[in-house]
Amino acid sequence: MAIVALAFVVAFIPAFAWLVFVYRLDRFEPEPKSLIARLFLWGLAAGPWASGMNILIAHVFSPGVETAQRDGNFLLAAFLLLALVAFSALNEEVMKYTVVSSRVRGDPAFNEPVDGMIYMSAAAIGFSFGENVVYIANAYFGLVGDATRPGVTLAVINAFLVTAPLRAFGSTIGHISWSGITGWFLSRHHLGKGSGRMLVGGILLAASLHTAFNFPLFLQELGLAVGWITWLVWIASIERYLTLLGRALLASPFRAKKLREMGERAVRRDVLRRYRALKARELPVMLGLVAVGVVAAIAAALIGMPQEVPYTTAFLFVLAAIAFSRFNWRCPVCGAHLNGTNPASCTHCHVSFR
Ligand SMILES: [Zn+2]
Repeated sequence: MAIVALAFVVAFIPAFAWLVFVYRLDRFEPEPKSLIARLFLWGLAAGPWASGMNILIAHVFSPGVETAQRDGNFLLAAFLLLALVAFSALNEEVMKYTVVSSRVRGDPAFNEPVDGMIYMSAAAIGFSFGENVVYIANAYFGLVGDATRPGVTLAVINAFLVTAPLRAFGSTIGHISWSGITGWFLSRHHLGKGSGRMLVGGILLAASLHTAFNFPLFLQELGLAVGWITWLVWIASIERYLTLLGRALLASPFRAKKLREMGERAVRRDVLRRYRALKARELPVMLGLVAVGVVAAIAAALIGMPQEVPYTTAFLFVLAAIAFSRFNWRCPVCGAHLNGTNPASCTHCHVSFR
């Protein structure tokens, strides 16, 4: 019981930090805090409902996967597995969308393009918080009950030092990105700029990215070394989310109002200040991450860890450096990714940085 409580706390701290982070992304007209908190809880509530559906989906496809594997028909096994993964991802994306859409459509606070993304992100954090508690607890109880392995210490390390940060970082960001993409289409539809068909397309796009994230991990378990594709899809998902976020903020009616109030010179100073801040952290953080990765990999090799540990460690840190740059190196006005190391202006919205 103490372990479950601890899993709860360990999953909640990063979830709360993500909630604050997402709340602050909406920089022109923040949403009511109580609404964000309620959407977090609705996302959490959608979790068990979605898992129930996922269990049904697994019941439909799993026997076929096992039979095909036994018969040596790898292609059929992979295809059925893909169907299982795709339906589960679609199920989760639809569940998160359904709870948010039914809560926010009548709310007067839903009045700018970025709001749908913020709402969906808050629900995604709640959803993934519930999922993470289950994964952390499973990681612990899965090992502690296994008599062939060195019991409790390993179970604690695996649950709280490996599973917890990996879930808090990897899958939570994934859920925020996929749901946020759906949220962009939800806003378009709600504010009368996009058709229902586009909205369905948006949910399918989110489910496709979610599937492309999960499927390589399943194949990896079948013995195919394709787990790294997951992390490329992860970065691509962040990329899409941030691009849409920038576009939504640029289109905010409250942005125009704020700019008018600030006056032209103050706006110019603000853009330059933001640009210099992101430029100042770009190189140091990237080099720092790569350096830590190299040191950690060397240390892991020196203390005689299995050979895949140093490689994976170095890979994860390099990946984190790339992810950081894709996140940081963006136009402060429109959110488009910047070209080169010292651009004179944004190629998308043409704001000058000189
Ligand atoms: Zn721009």
